[in-house]
Amino acid sequence: MGKVLVLNASYEPLNITSWRRAVILLLKDKAESLEHNGRMILPDLPLPTVIRLRQYVRIPYNEIPLTRRNVLHRDGHSCQYCGYHGENLTLDHILPRSRGGADTWENVITACMRCNVHKGNRTPKEAGMPLMSTPRQPVSSLYFEISRYLNQGSHQEWRKYVIGA
Ligand SMILES: [Zn+2]
Repeated sequence: MGKVLVLNASYEPLNITSWRRAVILLLKDKAESLEHNGRMILPDLPLPTVIRLRQYVRIPYNEIPLTRRNVLHRDGHSCQYCGYHGENLTLDHILPRSRGGADTWENVITACMRCNVHKGNRTPKEAGMPLMSTPRQPVSSLYFEISRYLNQGSHQEWRKYVIGA
């Protein structure tokens, strides 16, 4: 079963939720269904894929967790040293952990196995391996998450509600 994009009353994307939670919101009349996939879960209720809250809620700020999956997604699944795309991707600390490098969005990047091994315990400068881009913390966790679904080819019906994903 798919996920459901929740829009604020203002039509701004708010979060992604489970279809169960979305159905509860519909049944309680706290939201309206904007898109559905045609599959009926109740006699008069098709399974929603996009819903809109009837009441406006303030958007909380939430940070994107620094995980392997999220770093790979930020970096477009490519080695930030040589541009390699493929299976053999690892996470590299720009300033090595053994030298005090932190687990932060600014210090952790995607690197292929070969570059990671070649760089070893050096900084990019010491190793003569310049980065292809400056790593940053992704700005909006929701847009980040939405674009991950869209890039995987699922939930294309969300696209028209999301600018820039
Ligand atoms: Zn590489």
